[in-house]
Amino acid sequence: MDTRIYDVLVIGGGPGGYTAALYCARAGMTVAVLEKLAAGGQMATTDEIDNYPGFETGVNGFDLGQKMQQGAERFGVETHLAEVTAAHLARYPKRIETSAGEFLGRAVILATGASARELGVSHEAELRGRGVTYCATCDGMMYRGKEVAVVGGGNSAVADALVLAKFCSKVTLIHRRDSLRASKVYMEALKNSGIEICWNSVVKELIFDQRLTGVRLSNTKTGEERGLSCQGLFVAVGRVPDTQLFRGQVDMDQAGYLLADETTRTNLPGVYAVGDVRSKPLRQIVTATADGAVASHFIEEYLMEVEGK
Ligand code: NAP
Repeated sequence: MDTRIYDVLVIGGGPGGYTAALYCARAGMTVAVLEKLAAGGQMATTDEIDNYPGFETGVNGFDLGQKMQQGAERFGVETHLAEVTAAHLARYPKRIETSAGEFLGRAVILATGASARELGVSHEAELRGRGVTYCATCDGMMYRGKEVAVVGGGNSAVADALVLAKFCSKVTLIHRRDSLRASKVYMEALKNSGIEICWNSVVKELIFDQRLTGVRLSNTKTGEERGLSCQGLFVAVGRVPDTQLFRGQVDMDQAGYLLADETTRTNLPGVYAVGDVRSKPLRQIVTATADGAVASHFIEEYLMEVEGK
């Protein structure tokens, strides 16, 4: 068993996590990033990112994630591909249990981000990957020439619908209210896109044999029901923070995001929250990376206090 004690353990290898790792390593701390899948987090599922500065023609999210990982590893950051199964955060040093064994750290950065919110209809989980999907960028091409529907009324739903309209035979946007909350730029693009919108509608039932073949919609105003044929259902109804493991230890807001102020310090000494997992007004790559830099600054202070480092 690895009994080495790292100065900093970072849970989650998204932009917040790797920026924190980079800053901590450059400040001379020993750092390990624990990531269950691949660098980049949610960003890695975004085809083209136009609002991260420094890329005049935009950048692919997966590529940017890889670059952030490599940039941090250049200064000695270790990446361990491991799923965290338990976090003991109140003790010192902090103990993190993972699928690849146990890790000890003087400080821990929680950078677990958020994941797609599910619709909550019957058979949703079993149809995941068989017609029901949460990522148009990742799975869209599998539905080329097919009829698809997108659920949601925010920027993600409209952006997904616009992407899909480029190669799907029909795209229907299903929204539970009678107005969208998407930005002006997306609303303009919707106008001549050929996307049909089902207003005041929710998915009541998934229709399938081996795979999804359609949905049953219910009108939220009239209660009227109707069927809609589609081979793909793209769910884009917001995100939920990945904070289950920290429940009961770290203070959270009502939606489950971790409470930490602009210093990224949580209620537990030596535990910091960065990126989308933190309760904050704007979740963007730049705000996640900013959190990472801030966390490093306060961890340095913390380690000096507890260990005189
Ligand atoms: P969002 O803005 O929270 O929108 C979620 C949408 O899903 C809302 O329209 C909501 O309906 C609907 N919804 C929520 N729960 C539902 C349910 N159970 N059943 C049916 N509909 C449900 O989430 P988002 O679109 O993922 O965006 C998240 C953040 O990322 C936002 O700040 C967004 O601006 C940002 N973003 C930015 C860009 C960009 O600028 N390029 C692209 C994508 C996302 P109501 O409207 O009725 O609440």
